[in-house]
Amino acid sequence: MSVESTLRADIVEVGRRMYARGYTASNDGNISVRLGTDRLLMTPKSVCKGFMTPDMMCITDLEGRKLQGDRDPSSEMLMHLEVYRQRPDVQAVVHAHPPTATGFAVAGIPLDRAVLAEVLTTLGSIPIAEYATPSTRELPDAVRQYIKAHDGMLLANHGALTVGGDLYAAYYKMETIEHFAKISLVARLLGRENLISREEVERLQGLRGTYGIQAPAPICAVPADSSPDDPASCQVVQAPSSPGSRLIPNIVRTAESGQDAEIRLTYRELSALIEDAVRNLR
Ligand SMILES: [Zn+2]
Repeated sequence: MSVESTLRADIVEVGRRMYARGYTASNDGNISVRLGTDRLLMTPKSVCKGFMTPDMMCITDLEGRKLQGDRDPSSEMLMHLEVYRQRPDVQAVVHAHPPTATGFAVAGIPLDRAVLAEVLTTLGSIPIAEYATPSTRELPDAVRQYIKAHDGMLLANHGALTVGGDLYAAYYKMETIEHFAKISLVARLLGRENLISREEVERLQGLRGTYGIQAPAPICAVPADSSPDDPASCQVVQAPSSPGSRLIPNIVRTAESGQDAEIRLTYRELSALIEDAVRNLR
């Protein structure tokens, strides 16, 4: 099979997986790969990614001019072109709307807390690119701020974007983001997230070199809840300093009160409170 035929089949397979996992609904999402040095192979506009065939793909140049294909290229082509322009190392781009990660994007909550060692070593942080009208010039402009230093990001009130050295690497990063979003959501529902300390984050950054993990920028650990440094040169994660312990309890705070949200009562204390409340009602 030629390289082009293999890539066409890979796009079909990745589209099928994205749809099967619920990362896209209807005709959402888009996928592209580099075809040699000066062309791109891309999903077409208005097709369900779960039911594509290899012949549906479009070939464009790096300016987005269609060179081959019966259908028009993806409506988010401008965003893909911007990524390839900014990142010569990137071979593939995946965009989808995985529901939990997109929930964080809608809530305006970036996935940038130091929580899971494997996410830190692979993606570092997952910032949110600011809201832009889909398919317009605004979207590539919003993505440009983060794409030099990040292989994955959320798109405010829209979805997620991942890139990689090949198509499966880009797709697996989309899986990682959605998986991480689910775990973060569960931890926050439980009322507590233990954060990995800054010192441990620095150790994990060192492991990237040991294991040959490619990343476009180093991780920069900042104190929890502080504002990011330079998103163009650094993967900023929130990690409190603690030379003594590697995990730091972080109680989730409610937006309304700013107070600690976790309340722990024994069964006996809870029963007494309820009895008091019932007595006061009489
Ligand atoms: Zn989209």
